[in-house]
Amino acid sequence: MKITVFGSGYVGLVTAACLADVGHEVLCMDVDKARIARLRDGEVPIHEPGLEPMIRANLEARRLAFTRDLDAAVSFGLLQFIAVGTPSGPDGGADLSQVLAVAQGIGERMTDYKVVINKSTVPVGSADRVAATIGAALEARGEAIDFDVCSNPEFLKEGAAIEDFTHAARIVVGTDSPRVEALMRECYAPYIRLQEKLIFMGVRDAELTKYAANAMLATKISFINEIASLAERLGADVEQVRRGIGSDPRIGYHFIYPGCGYGGSCFPKDVKALIHTAEGVDYPARLLQAVEAVNHRQKQTLCAKLSQALGGDLAGKTIALWGLAFKPNTDDMREAPSRTLMEALWAAGARVRAYDPVAMPECRRLYGERDDLALVADRGQAVAGADALVICTEWKEFRTLDRDWLKARLRLPVVIDGRNLYDPGSMHAAGLLYHAVGRGVPG
Ligand code: NAD
Repeated sequence: MKITVFGSGYVGLVTAACLADVGHEVLCMDVDKARIARLRDGEVPIHEPGLEPMIRANLEARRLAFTRDLDAAVSFGLLQFIAVGTPSGPDGGADLSQVLAVAQGIGERMTDYKVVINKSTVPVGSADRVAATIGAALEARGEAIDFDVCSNPEFLKEGAAIEDFTHAARIVVGTDSPRVEALMRECYAPYIRLQEKLIFMGVRDAELTKYAANAMLATKISFINEIASLAERLGADVEQVRRGIGSDPRIGYHFIYPGCGYGGSCFPKDVKALIHTAEGVDYPARLLQAVEAVNHRQKQTLCAKLSQALGGDLAGKTIALWGLAFKPNTDDMREAPSRTLMEALWAAGARVRAYDPVAMPECRRLYGERDDLALVADRGQAVAGADALVICTEWKEFRTLDRDWLKARLRLPVVIDGRNLYDPGSMHAAGLLYHAVGRGVPG
């Protein structure tokens, strides 16, 4: 099939590469000149395991191409995937301007039947807005060309995006058109051995499914973080509580890891957008408001614990950070807890010495050169002579630790672990002042 993908971010690139990889012909369009130039050379601007070789192989096989040319993009694909950004607007609602700009571009140029597929995360009712935008653009041209708009939300996780796309737990398509249903089956056929993986439903159902999925995952995180905060105050260990509740199959072990709050490009923005949608229909979404408030509070805990451990004064201190990305296996730092911490440390007059296996270029891009930020080559350099260590991301390479090695390098033996990587007992036995999340015992 001939497929156009608008947007070459995490979702657009992965969609384009994976669909080309199973034999479709894919043209991926982006407005970002520098990005398209790099992609044409087979250089992938984001860190995503397996993506670069897949893009290179499909560029070479001429099944995948990149363009900035909107005319070429619209005329190319029968299927037109929209995978552009939908950031939070000032009121918390999703900003649809990128999506509607693509819709406008399609309506102004299409000359034959197209299926326009919303892969971006968009609020309920957006497919109608996309259809109205295309319809108005066609009308302005005096054209009456047939088209359909459907919803096909994306559930991939950054860091495991290729795996998630190629072995999706489910593919959700919102449409009431049998023609679209047949075309979407054909598009995804190479990925579907089990028919029940492909779930068809109404457009609004599909749009809400995406928000409900992310809101549920965010709720699980805030729930366990709330229990962790209680455990800290009650002298209980949340890791034991986690084991205790996860063993109930109705609860399960997934996504109940306590930490320093959720970040990334999706959960914060999608929870906000769903709260905003709820306000729009006069329904105050109390649970979602609480999920967001608990997460906000949780992101502050790293700095609060650090300040307490260092006697309340952070000015002039050098703090080592292990991990900058919002989670492992990605260089994405959008809404990362590390950023809340660094910004609080700088405001308090402290210096940051950070190491992350892949996110340091992204950190430099975000914050530029500054005297109070050093990005170093390994975790040992980060802690050498530092007043404390804070762990923000659970990269695999941080999971093992020579406690004596660490103690010998830190100026003060303070370790704030936002990811519960180590056993409190052995950390204390090594003389480290270890503060994890929700581990009220042994203190
Ligand atoms: P991104 O910000 O990484 O990429 C968006 C890309 O779209 C950018 O490269 C931008 O230049 C391009 N763009 C903007 N306007 C354009 C236009 N008019 N025409 C063509 N390209 C244009 O975004 P992302 O992380 O890939 O997310 C895309 C959508 O998918 C969002 O709605 C997001 O919520 C959703 N989503 C993201 C993830 C994730 O893990 N990142 C997972 C599931 C769903």
